[in-house]
Amino acid sequence: MEDFSSLFRAAADHAAGYRRSLPDRPVGVPVDQAAIAAAFAGPLPAAPTPPAQVLADLVAAAEPGLVATAGPRYFGFVVGGALPAATAADILAAGWDQLAFNPVTSPAALAAEAAAGGWLKDLLGIPASASVGFVTGGQAANTAGLAAARLQVLADAGWDVERRGLLGAPPIRVIAGVERHATIDRSLRLLGLGEDAVRPVPAGPNGAVDPAALRDALRAAPTGPTIVCLQAGNVNTGACDELRDACELAHRRGAWVHVDGAFGLWAGASPTTRHLVDGLELADSWACDGHKWLNLPYDTAFAFCSRPDVHAAAMSYAAAYLVGSGGVPTGADLTAESSRRARGFAVWSGLRELGSDGVAALVDRCCALARRFADGLTAAGFEVANEVVLNQVLVGFGDDARTDRVIAAAQADGTCWVGGTTWRGRRLMRIAVSNATTTEADVDRSVAALTRLAG
Ligand SMILES: *Cc1c(COP(=O)(O)O)cnc(C)c1O
Repeated sequence: MEDFSSLFRAAADHAAGYRRSLPDRPVGVPVDQAAIAAAFAGPLPAAPTPPAQVLADLVAAAEPGLVATAGPRYFGFVVGGALPAATAADILAAGWDQLAFNPVTSPAALAAEAAAGGWLKDLLGIPASASVGFVTGGQAANTAGLAAARLQVLADAGWDVERRGLLGAPPIRVIAGVERHATIDRSLRLLGLGEDAVRPVPAGPNGAVDPAALRDALRAAPTGPTIVCLQAGNVNTGACDELRDACELAHRRGAWVHVDGAFGLWAGASPTTRHLVDGLELADSWACDGHKWLNLPYDTAFAFCSRPDVHAAAMSYAAAYLVGSGGVPTGADLTAESSRRARGFAVWSGLRELGSDGVAALVDRCCALARRFADGLTAAGFEVANEVVLNQVLVGFGDDARTDRVIAAAQADGTCWVGGTTWRGRRLMRIAVSNATTTEADVDRSVAALTRLAG
């Protein structure tokens, strides 16, 4: 018998030691990718290796190539950390090795998803009657929501896409902002709708869809299968599309409204920011990440749908040998995965750790820290290029070349990690504050480092 205890304890000790080191460890240092690859490379040995040795070898090989994305001064992309209880629950999920397919394969995993799913809807302001698929990311959540949309708008036109496919189907129009997330396009490709299905709507000054242009696009659209794809949380600026009027108008036209709110939907969890997503309850499907702003481990995201029957009809499958299928849709009925890890344990635990007040405080704190970043960099003489409405800040350091040099210098320096983007034709530094452990001191230290490097 393996000594599970010492092996699991060794793994947990390594992980805990790593986490403890995060506040002081350089964030992003130049790495030798070839050396890291070499540490993992080589032929697979024919002979078995004792598990403790495998673990030691893994730690040694991985250490130099780990990125401190879970730490308090990682501001790249929209990357959150991982809450302690959620991380511990994920370790348990691996240890329990549960198959979260349906209530027969793991009653506990499905019960955790059901309870956490209810809490999520309540926090975000999504109707309690909606279904929730626990998926792997915003990408998968967008695909699930748009699959449900595809089914319904074609059913309304008398076409059963699940049986007949798309060959010969009436064309579907997708009305979406020009600054939509690129995963929307990938979902449309995977669903056979294609990128050309998109009728792009111009954006207003801060990157949200221009409401007047959206109204015009909806009015001008001929009748027929139509999906309106809105966004809460522009990846560059954090701006949220105005949802209420858009949903009402889209529904009058018989369209389905999908909201990509990978991180921005969390605005709904705080009274301070809730106005940004006013009317979100009127949409038909929603995509939201857990592994970004909620600080849950990867891969955690949620595909919500106002019509559980449509959601399940688009995603589920049945087979004679699958006991437990065919009842109220749960688990794998609502996702594109079949066998799935029990990610509901980490979601349930992370939400319990924070409580509803803690979720609101997390959102408020990150927004306040983003404004602190903006104020600090403005005071230092640099240009904040967006209106900071949420947790995203765009900064210009002069011309494009200079901005790129400051970004590269920051990434090599290691005090903090910031990314770059091209927005409205300009190179800009992109700062996203999404980590539950980031403090004012972390922001001040980062502003000081960026100011020094830009000088
Ligand atoms: C991050 C993001 C996605 C993709 O989410 P993943 O979790 O990376 O799959 C989609 N839309 C928006 C607006 C995002 O910010």
